[in-house]
Amino acid sequence: MSYLALYRKHRPVNFAALVGQDHVVRTLKNALSKNMVSHAYLLSGVRGTGKTSTAKLLAKALNCLDLVDGEPCNKCMNCLKINEGNFMDIIEIDAASNRGIDEIRDLREKIKFMPVEGKTKVYIIDEVHMLTGEAFNALLKTLEEPPGHIVFILATTEPHKIPLTILSRCQKFDFHKIPSDILIERLRFIAADCNGRITEEALTLIAKLAGGGLRDAISLLDQCLTSYDNEVTVEDVSQIAGIVEDKKIIELFQQIADKNVTEIMNLYEELKGGGKSIGQLLFNIVEGLRNILIIKSIQKPEQFIIAGEEMIRDLKKVGDRFTKEEILNWIYKLGELESKMKYSNHPDILLEVELLKGSTGNPVTPTITTEQKSTNTKKENTIIETPPMDEDVKPETGVKLDGEKLWHRLMVIIGEKNKSLEAYYKGSVGHVFMDNILTIYFDENKSKFHKDRVELPENIELAEVILRKLAGRKIKILVEFTNEIEETKEKNSEDKITEIFGNNIKYIN
Ligand SMILES: [Zn+2]
Repeated sequence: MSYLALYRKHRPVNFAALVGQDHVVRTLKNALSKNMVSHAYLLSGVRGTGKTSTAKLLAKALNCLDLVDGEPCNKCMNCLKINEGNFMDIIEIDAASNRGIDEIRDLREKIKFMPVEGKTKVYIIDEVHMLTGEAFNALLKTLEEPPGHIVFILATTEPHKIPLTILSRCQKFDFHKIPSDILIERLRFIAADCNGRITEEALTLIAKLAGGGLRDAISLLDQCLTSYDNEVTVEDVSQIAGIVEDKKIIELFQQIADKNVTEIMNLYEELKGGGKSIGQLLFNIVEGLRNILIIKSIQKPEQFIIAGEEMIRDLKKVGDRFTKEEILNWIYKLGELESKMKYSNHPDILLEVELLKGSTGNPVTPTITTEQKSTNTKKENTIIETPPMDEDVKPETGVKLDGEKLWHRLMVIIGEKNKSLEAYYKGSVGHVFMDNILTIYFDENKSKFHKDRVELPENIELAEVILRKLAGRKIKILVEFTNEIEETKEKNSEDKITEIFGNNIKYIN
């Protein structure tokens, strides 16, 4: 069975069968039953999260002759024709291949005509961000004066590329990434439905690789089921997906803990030989460390780590060999390495050296100064308290800055460019550099105003431009509240790191 066939076979025929987008379904069904449907919708979200399925369901519901509580009946003449893909009043346009003004002009001509067989003419424009500026203008004219018998459903993976004038005329729905437990449940059902045999761990890995998209998950499941006659294992999935096997990475950590240099080098060679880029390998290693850190920090890590029970047990076992500080510093160090690797002719050697360093018993150097380290140790090395900014830090010409030096320099330059912004920054209570992300924390009770100012788009842009110049790489700024950390001051450090990683999880993953 081809993947498309399997995916199509499981395409939802009503809203109840749509997976993981309850907020969208609730609103649409409500609008349909109250006959309050908008004339234009914009569905946005990452690939495979159900945008096209939703557009088709809405189009069907708008033409169903026997709508029940906003659900299409799937029995009336219109529903049956639509399910067969044989209905003239639902027009699908792929903007990726029909980008131009001619197509939209053509559309504008045609929308004047009443529906041929249904109640409502529905235009579904997929990947709408691909339209040219001229085509958008033409579309805008249509959206400004929409004929009553027409509904537009625009879908996009990149809503930021759509002109505001268009956005403001659409009702918007943001499609969420589908949580892994829901994906796994769905995959389990589909596998059973086509008599496929697959282990729970393998299902978990597929869900993880799909990154919240059901279509990708089903595609991978299908490839696995058709490639193997026996029960599909996690190794089979790894093989098909071409990913570095997590187990080998855990083994690598184990050998580093044992300081077994020969085995480290052997494993590294094996991992490199897996056909993945060094960048991808580095990402997988950092991801493994991140998982260990979560396991060491949180009572119930399962909800934040997409891995089977056995894998979590192995991660915990190897994690016990390292302190939280070591793991965290390692993540910092590898984050720095990532940018160095981009400018190196031998990125593989840089990574190898870093892994060997871990085995020498030399704690990997943290990116913080000694003075801050004392503050930090108290706080489990997670949040670096914002130092006073009146300290003068000389620019280091030709040197790419990082960590605390970078923060100091950023504050100095912001002070030179914009005094009030500097003051808002002074309202922050801490910051963390991780990979290419700088997270700045504000106290919700005391410095909400400061946070609001710091995170204005123009202020973020200014700071990101400065950071880019200073660090020689792109660093993204995130601004977060940290009141939960204040409130938990009395709690032990285990709880604190949990709170903090609650924030980090969003972007490490
Ligand atoms: Zn119907």
